[in-house]
Amino acid sequence: MRQYARAPHSRAQCAWCADVELPNEVVLFNTKRTGDAGRKGDTVGTLVCANFECNVNARKRPRSAYLGFLDKLRGRYGPGTFLVLTYPDLSYQTTALADSIRQIVKTRNDAGDARVSALYYDNTALGLDLLGCDWHPSQHDHQILAAAIAQHLATLPLTW
Ligand SMILES: [Zn+2]
Repeated sequence: MRQYARAPHSRAQCAWCADVELPNEVVLFNTKRTGDAGRKGDTVGTLVCANFECNVNARKRPRSAYLGFLDKLRGRYGPGTFLVLTYPDLSYQTTALADSIRQIVKTRNDAGDARVSALYYDNTALGLDLLGCDWHPSQHDHQILAAAIAQHLATLPLTW
């Protein structure tokens, strides 16, 4: 397999990760076909991240989309509304989700919107059984999560 010498003129999408916010170039890789066709010089090609960054790109959270969603909520519910970003323990040996949520909250807070906060659900510490369908929270877990949200809301300067 070899990398084609020239990058495409327009912004291409990687056929492997299909990430729409790529920080890297996408280039054409091609290789000979198998069998007779290949021996005659036929090739097959695909557009892929130049240095195979797909793995990292696919794990990156779309922060701009999340920030846009918060803008939409803020627009709909007004500046006095508290927005709480909850995130579960989805570690899978990465802190990507937690890092993204914390960064999104910091971005909003730094921009002067102090009414955005985060609430982390520590599955183990909360004692969740995750016996819902496909390891999602069960009814037992939802009651615990509701109590965790109530506890978080109690720390906010709510006046209702
Ligand atoms: Zn890719």
